[in-house]
Amino acid sequence: MTSMSLTIAVDLGGTHIRTASYNSESITPIAHYRTRTNAHEPGVFDRLAQAIGNVWSDDVTSMGVASPGPLDPYTGTILATPNIPEWRNFRLAQKLSERFGVPVHLDNDANMAGFGEWTFGAGKGHHNLVYLTISTGVGGGVICNDALLQGFHGLATELGHMIVDPDGPPCGCGKNGHVESFSSGTAIARYTTEQIQAGQKTSLQLDGDPSSPLRANLTAKQIAEAALAGDSLAISAFARAGYYLGIAVANYLAIFDPSIVIFGGGVSQVGDLLFKPFEESLRKHTFHPHYLDNLVIAKAALGDDVGLLGALAWARFKRSNEMARVE
Ligand SMILES: [Zn+2]
Repeated sequence: MTSMSLTIAVDLGGTHIRTASYNSESITPIAHYRTRTNAHEPGVFDRLAQAIGNVWSDDVTSMGVASPGPLDPYTGTILATPNIPEWRNFRLAQKLSERFGVPVHLDNDANMAGFGEWTFGAGKGHHNLVYLTISTGVGGGVICNDALLQGFHGLATELGHMIVDPDGPPCGCGKNGHVESFSSGTAIARYTTEQIQAGQKTSLQLDGDPSSPLRANLTAKQIAEAALAGDSLAISAFARAGYYLGIAVANYLAIFDPSIVIFGGGVSQVGDLLFKPFEESLRKHTFHPHYLDNLVIAKAALGDDVGLLGALAWARFKRSNEMARVE
């Protein structure tokens, strides 16, 4: 491989577009750029193309894109993403490929993050990996026998929408009782708000109109701080999130039998508040104790760069496959 083969990685987020270019060996970018997505205003594609243009060079041979889903990675099509209303059945990979003249490889942000952690991060050397990101939502990606699991439609794996209680609270997707509806930052905040409104004692205070859960703007971070200071409602909110997370992961163990489960995202930073009840629940709900033998539970290693590095890893992987086919 020549050293003058560059890869561009794109992390298309709801808030920011990040782009970076890398030479063939390094994970330190040669150039990088960041701009606001302004996802609800027209012209997202033009802003994206401009952000790529800012790190472009004639030595670029491929591009990887981590994007919000749901999307079809096989055709590079964004099906419909609530974050970017103007994109419906939007052929993003094809449009970028036509604009820049290189192959463009697209998959959803959680899959790309999982692939990045497997290639460069906490999951290096493992053959079977479950990656979970817990922030405002819950997302995930799976490496199964050394391959990213994408599925028939390319919709695998939506780990946040695993049903852990069909009669549970509404999820961000509109269905009920998904693990996201119990264990995401949004869910923890909503549960705590409801408990305060029902008269539970706590040191936490609701801002805005306390009769409306939408206007009472507690954050998972504030609740974590209260929990660390000993607030029993805040502690119970994380215990509940950990309990349902344990049920979900017990299900993932039964399906994927990973050697490592990696946690990323802001809510996973809270530590024992979430993970003590999680581990207790996991042990209780796992079908057979052998799943837990030598199972590694790890923190994500790539931080805020996980989307970029996942897209980089994916573009390099796809390119090396193509080169092997040509030879
Ligand atoms: Zn859902």
